[in-house]
Amino acid sequence: MRLVLPPGVSETVFQKALQALAGVVGKQWVLATDEDRETFMDFYAAGDADLHVPSAAVGPQSLEEVQAIVRIANEYKVPLWPISRGKNLGYGAAAPCMSGTVVLDLARMNRILDVNERFGYCLLEPGVGFFDLFHYLQANKIKLWMSIPANAWGSVVGNALERGYGYTPYGENTRNICGLEVVLPNGELVRTGNGAMSNSVSWQLFKYGYGPSWDQLFCQSNFGIVTKMGMWLMPEPEATLGLNIQLPNPDDVGWAIDELAPLRMRGVIEQSPSIGNSLRFVASATQRSQWYQGDGALPDDVLLEILKKNNLGWWTVNLRLYGYDEVNEVHARIIREAFRKHVKQEIETVKWHRGDSIENSGAGVPATNALQIINWRGGRGGHIGFSPVLPAASEHVLKQFHSTKKRYEEIGVDYYGSFTLFERYTTNVNMMVYDRDDQEMTSKVRALFKVLIADAAREGYSEYRTHISYMDDVALTFDFNHHSLLRLNEAVKEALDPNGILAPGKQGVWPRARRPARA
Ligand SMILES: Cc1cc2nc3c(=O)[nH]c(=O)nc-3n(C[C@H](O)[C@H](O)[C@H](O)COP(=O)(O)OP(=O)(O)OC[C@H]3O[C@@H](n4cnc5c(N)ncnc54)[C@H](O)[C@@H]3O)c2cc1C
Repeated sequence: MRLVLPPGVSETVFQKALQALAGVVGKQWVLATDEDRETFMDFYAAGDADLHVPSAAVGPQSLEEVQAIVRIANEYKVPLWPISRGKNLGYGAAAPCMSGTVVLDLARMNRILDVNERFGYCLLEPGVGFFDLFHYLQANKIKLWMSIPANAWGSVVGNALERGYGYTPYGENTRNICGLEVVLPNGELVRTGNGAMSNSVSWQLFKYGYGPSWDQLFCQSNFGIVTKMGMWLMPEPEATLGLNIQLPNPDDVGWAIDELAPLRMRGVIEQSPSIGNSLRFVASATQRSQWYQGDGALPDDVLLEILKKNNLGWWTVNLRLYGYDEVNEVHARIIREAFRKHVKQEIETVKWHRGDSIENSGAGVPATNALQIINWRGGRGGHIGFSPVLPAASEHVLKQFHSTKKRYEEIGVDYYGSFTLFERYTTNVNMMVYDRDDQEMTSKVRALFKVLIADAAREGYSEYRTHISYMDDVALTFDFNHHSLLRLNEAVKEALDPNGILAPGKQGVWPRARRPARA
């Protein structure tokens, strides 16, 4: 594998920078062999991994080491791409946006610094994984629950910074952030919110601090390296009640959203229900070739046959109520009545009470079995996620669903989408699953992705998050007043990062020094 240097940095200067980094973290934590570089590439990439090749990776263990690395990066003009655990699968994994960037892997900074059961929060270093925090809470019998993504291999901090989400009432992880410690690209160390007061006793309690509030400015951002994150955790409820509902027809997703949205907004449902096409369950457990060997996307009649054999509707709604038993029962009755207007079949009910096994509770119990979907097409699988945000209303959901499904069919990829319902909007995560070694398929997927961005933008739908290859494309859809938001972001970037060393290109924000590398 060819070494790709950071733009404008000679090999001699680069080697000097690596030596300086080794002086800080120790030689064994500067990873610069071909094999190392390969490890930090996007191993789910749709044939474009070579656009995002890291030049090396460096793994600090402390805040002081991070600060020293930032000083070196500024001195040698070597860009850094911070990751917490780098499991950002479907969005670029550990790979940097700009080739030649050094990955700053914070996985060794993995201390759980504080967990406060009384006030329901934790303070974490970036390398703490969902599994680590879960085991810590379990081992110490702390009655606080986390909210985990469907694939929970990654870090609590990385997921929240990317505005990832889980499925409990505390599901929107970025909303639970309360106080950050950040190393700015110019080396300055800051604490946000009440952490800016050295002796504050409410850093993890009060989000806003005094004056402008910065936590969200470090999310999906290249303004700083987060070295500590305060996060609210959910007190264990007395009971939960899950409802799993099969919807027989493709268009049922429309009325289901219209029925659920007011209940979500009023707090009858406090978590974010997921309505996913049921193919996801089949794709997690079997391979496509077991069902169909033909070309093109799975024909509708074959799909219906598969769903029938697996006792599944076209969509499955998974929702759960958390709290007092009596209240859950009343809310479940209201939800069942809403669905009975449209579907006759039995609604599966799953009940959990404090003291029962946590497995069926609806607590964030980390798992990685969702990863199995990438085996669907056979070969070395991968996937990419296209994730627009729509108003929680049938007219938008149906329009987006039909248009996306049609686009998938045009290139012969099976539709695999879900709508997660928040208070006022729904996030529509569409996965494109492919065989990474099938060049024809991956090039069609890349073209499809651009078409989907354009289709969505025409309707006024933005992406909630995107893969590193499409960060500029998505940024350009935010076009009000000739992209004035991008100019604002770039002005802040310039002020904080004059040498352009931190995550150039992230979310389409390029420091002036790096703009020639913009695609
Ligand atoms: C099958 C499947 C299902 C999935 N389901 C979900 C889901 O339900 N919900 C969901 O949210 N995601 C989901 N994902 C996407 C992804 O796996 C998770 O979001 C994962 O948590 C992200 O990886 P990570 O936590 O290791 O973050 P990282 O890869 O460490 O970080 C992501 C990005 O955040 C920035 N960043 C990270 N740490 C820092 C830091 N300390 N300072 C500054 N910037 C930083 C960087 O730009 C980095 O590239 C799914 C993926 C797959 C494959």
